[in-house]
Amino acid sequence: MGVVRFFSLLILVLTLTACGPGPTEKKKETTQLLMGTLVTISTWGLSAAEDEKAVTAAFREMARVEALLSSHKPESAISRVNASPRGFPRKVDAEVLHVMREAMRFQELSGGAFDPGLRPLVRLWRFSETPPPVAPPSRDEVTAWLQARGGGVGVELTDGGMVLLNRGVGLDLGGIAKGYAIDRAVSVLREHGVKNAIVNAGGDMRVMGDKGGAPWRIGVQHPRNPDNAIAVVDLSGDIAMVTSGDYERYFVTKERRYHHVLNPGTGYPAESGLMSVSVQASTAMAADALSTAVFVMGPKRGLAFLKQAGAEGMLIDAQGRKVKTPGFREASE
Ligand code: ADP
Ligand code: MG
Repeated sequence: MGVVRFFSLLILVLTLTACGPGPTEKKKETTQLLMGTLVTISTWGLSAAEDEKAVTAAFREMARVEALLSSHKPESAISRVNASPRGFPRKVDAEVLHVMREAMRFQELSGGAFDPGLRPLVRLWRFSETPPPVAPPSRDEVTAWLQARGGGVGVELTDGGMVLLNRGVGLDLGGIAKGYAIDRAVSVLREHGVKNAIVNAGGDMRVMGDKGGAPWRIGVQHPRNPDNAIAVVDLSGDIAMVTSGDYERYFVTKERRYHHVLNPGTGYPAESGLMSVSVQASTAMAADALSTAVFVMGPKRGLAFLKQAGAEGMLIDAQGRKVKTPGFREASE
C-alpha cells in the first residue's frame, strides 16, 4: 500500500515538474470590444492574478483614450473641439495636444496624405454610421467640401490649445488614435512589470518580449480572403505592426469599391493601386499614421516615404503582389 502511494505521489510530482504550467497556461488571453474592434491582450508567463491585474489596467487605459479621442462619442475632448466655432482658439488638455502634434507631424511628412482634419469629409461618406452607407455622396457635396476645406493644414496649434480654421476642417483621429491607445496599453503593462505580451486591436498590434524565447507569430489578413493570411510575421522585442486596407470598412456599388481611407486631395477614397499596407515601426502610433499615409500615397511615393520615416512596410498591390522594404520582418519558415 505504502509503496503504491509513494509511486503515485512520485509520478504526480514528476508530471508536475516536467510540464510545469503547460504552454496553454503560460499564455493568457483576454478580449474586449473597444474602439469598434476586438482587442486581445495576451501575456506570457504570468500568474493568473498578475495577468488579471495588469490586463484589466491596460484595458481601462485604452477605454480612457477612446473616450478622450473618439470623434464618434459626443462627449469626447475631440468632439467638443469639433462642436466649437471656427477661428477661435480652444484649450485642450496636454494629452490631446500631444497626439494632435504627432498627427500634424505625419500630415506634414506625408505632404498632406495623412490628414487628422477630415471629420466633415468622413461624415459625408458615412463610413462609421449604422447602418453602413450603400452609396457615395454626390459629386457636388464632395466639391463643396473641397472648397470649404481650402488648402493648407487647416488647424493651428496655440499655447495649450488649437484653432480649427474653417468649416471644412474637423478633427478625426481615426487614422492614429488606435495606435496611440495600443502604445498606452503597452506602457501600462510595463508599469505592472509585464515583460512579454501582445496587444492586438483587430490586427493592429504592438508586442513586448516573446513567448519563452519564441517570437509572437501573427498572420496578416489577406485583403480579399478573410480566412487566409497573406503573410505570417514573427515579432519579438519591442515593435509594432499596423495594417490599413480597403477591406475593413467599404461598400461596393456599380462594381466600384468605396472604402474608408480617404484621399484629402480628391475627397474620394484613395485609389493608389493598393489593397493593403502593413507598417512595422517602433510605436503603434507611428505605424498607424504611416500605414494610412502610405495607403493614400501609393507604392512609389509610399516606399520612399517609409524609408525617410525609418519604418518598414509590406504593400499589397491591386494584383495581390507583395512589395516590401528590405527590413520588413516575416516568419522565416
Ligand atoms: P482602421 O480604422 O481600420 O485602423 P486606418 O488606420 O487606415 O484604418 O484609419 C482609417 C480612419 O482614419 C478612417 O475611418 C477615418 O476616420 C480616418 N481617415 C480616413 N482617411 C484618412 C487620411 N487620409 N488621413 C488620416 N485619417 C484618415
Ligand atoms: Mg492608421
